[in-house]
Amino acid sequence: MLKYDCLIVGSGLFGATYAHLAHARGKKCLVIDKRSHAGGNIYCEEVEGINVHKYGAHIFHTSDEKIWSFVNSIVPFNRYTNSPIAHAPNGKLYNLPFNMNTFHQMWGVKTPIEAQAKIDEQRCKAIEKMRAEGVIEPRNLEEQALTLIGSDIYEQLIKDYTEKQWGRPCVDLPAFIIRRLPVRMTFDNNYFNDSYQGIPIGGYNKLIEGLLQGIEVRLDTDFFEQRNYWESVANQIVFTGKIDEYYGYRFGKLEYRTVRFEQVKMNTPNYQGNAVMNYTSKDVPYTRIIEHKHFEKFGMEIYENPWTVISKEYSTEWYDGMEPFYPVNDERNTAIYEKYRALTMHDTHVVFGGRLAEYKYYDMAPIISRVFKYFK
Ligand code: FAD
Ligand code: UDP
Repeated sequence: MLKYDCLIVGSGLFGATYAHLAHARGKKCLVIDKRSHAGGNIYCEEVEGINVHKYGAHIFHTSDEKIWSFVNSIVPFNRYTNSPIAHAPNGKLYNLPFNMNTFHQMWGVKTPIEAQAKIDEQRCKAIEKMRAEGVIEPRNLEEQALTLIGSDIYEQLIKDYTEKQWGRPCVDLPAFIIRRLPVRMTFDNNYFNDSYQGIPIGGYNKLIEGLLQGIEVRLDTDFFEQRNYWESVANQIVFTGKIDEYYGYRFGKLEYRTVRFEQVKMNTPNYQGNAVMNYTSKDVPYTRIIEHKHFEKFGMEIYENPWTVISKEYSTEWYDGMEPFYPVNDERNTAIYEKYRALTMHDTHVVFGGRLAEYKYYDMAPIISRVFKYFK
């Protein structure tokens, strides 16, 4: 007799949510993870009472009430609202996303009409240039940014930051990347348009612990080290690791971007006054500095802890042995991924889910939404 109904490879948000819902339906699940902790990329490590986001800043946001209720039923979330600040090449600070505060700081404009006129003046130049070349739709990120928001904001807040983050010129990047960012004609620094956002009270580990409660988890356990054995313990497998690795890299290796974190603990209660500071100049080698305590402490609460922890984020190319973070959805990688995806059609006993197995840039809420689909 098989020991488990379901083997789940990976204890990240996809694996943990799947395990939780299967367990609730009476399935006997085993979760394995090659890391020494559960939670995948949302894992936090406590330093001086501060939850440090070990794999990059994570802010939960969604407009889906079902998803918000679900995560809050596992652990209540706080009221954190993401409002990053940009430190620009000209040495000035700007509010993000692009909104009336940004436009006032950039041009001194005070009303939406003045701001729109300034943006339109710059947008029109870019649109005319494209038209002269016979181009209708923006062909790349640079054209998209210039026709959306104009050259001043592109030069000060977008170009260098994007090139550092992706390691490629903006003219070689797809336009859709920049469409994620809201452009607002109001004085509103909320980075997201969603109805709900926040951080689990007590940190993301509470979310993962809650999801995995009552479920057997084995850490430091790599599926590929004993593949035959793991395949024999359950009829159904949920695989959330790299899809190319699952198929022995037979069509070639998929590429990723990754981030190197330089973490510093400091004996000061408030280093930068905000959780996220983007450095949008190429002269600064890191893309962002995260000050973790601001995700969970607000106002004067910040000063109750004399310590702070910051992480400088250096965006880099991914090589074997590093954590794969962002799929590079360019033509080459998409074509390779599609070949692997075709193979999954024959492996009907395996659910391939999450950022690595689906080779897709998923935020946390869409990951949960994906898992819900298996439990309708
Ligand atoms: P993962 O978290 O990668 O989990 C996969 C797990 O599988 C890992 O624990 C891994 O160790 C394990 N595994 C892999 N291979 C094997 C194997 N062979 N054997 C055993 N175990 C294996 N989303 C947001 O909504 N808001 C944000 O602000 C946000 N910020 C982000 C910042 C960064 C830098 C990154 C990289 C992502 C961010 N995300 C954010 C996205 C979020 O991290 C993902 O949506 C989510 O973590 C994906 O969960 P997952 O389970 O698919 O993958
Ligand atoms: N971006 C930028 N300047 C910023 C912040 C973002 O140019 O200060 C661009 C950049 O190209 C980035 C994209 O907007 O890849 C999307 O930003 P988001 O913060 O959503 O990206 P994430 O860090 O979540 O990948």
